[in-house]
Amino acid sequence: MAGGGNAIRGSRVGAGPLGEAERGEAAPRKAVTYFCTNAHRSVITFAVEATPPDSWDCPKCGLPAGLDEENAPPAPKIEPYKTHLAYVKERRSDAEAEDILEEAIALLRSRRKSGEVIF
Ligand SMILES: [Zn+2]
Repeated sequence: MAGGGNAIRGSRVGAGPLGEAERGEAAPRKAVTYFCTNAHRSVITFAVEATPPDSWDCPKCGLPAGLDEENAPPAPKIEPYKTHLAYVKERRSDAEAEDILEEAIALLRSRRKSGEVIF
C-alpha cells in the first residue's frame, strides 16, 4: 500500500523528463530502401514499430519494388483483362458464349424478380 502512494508522488504531471520527450522531434522512424525493376532506388520511411511490406509501389515509375536489389519484382502484365478475354475466346465457340450469356440473363431476370438485384 505504501508503495502505491510513493509512485503517485514521484510522477508529477506536466513536468520532468517525460514532458520534454513528448514535444521533441517526430516519432522515431526507420528508412527502408526498395528497388524496382527499372533500377530506381526509393527510400521509404516507416515508424519504427511498423513492419515494412515486402513490396512497395515505386514512386518514380509505379512498378512494384522489392527489398532485394538483385531480385526486383517483375513488372506486372499490362493487359490482364485483354489476355483473359483472348483466352476465353480461344476456348469457347460463339455458340457456347451465347448460351452462357442467355443463362446469365435468365439468372439476372429471376434475381431481379425476387428483388435480389435492383436496376
Ligand atoms: Zn521505378
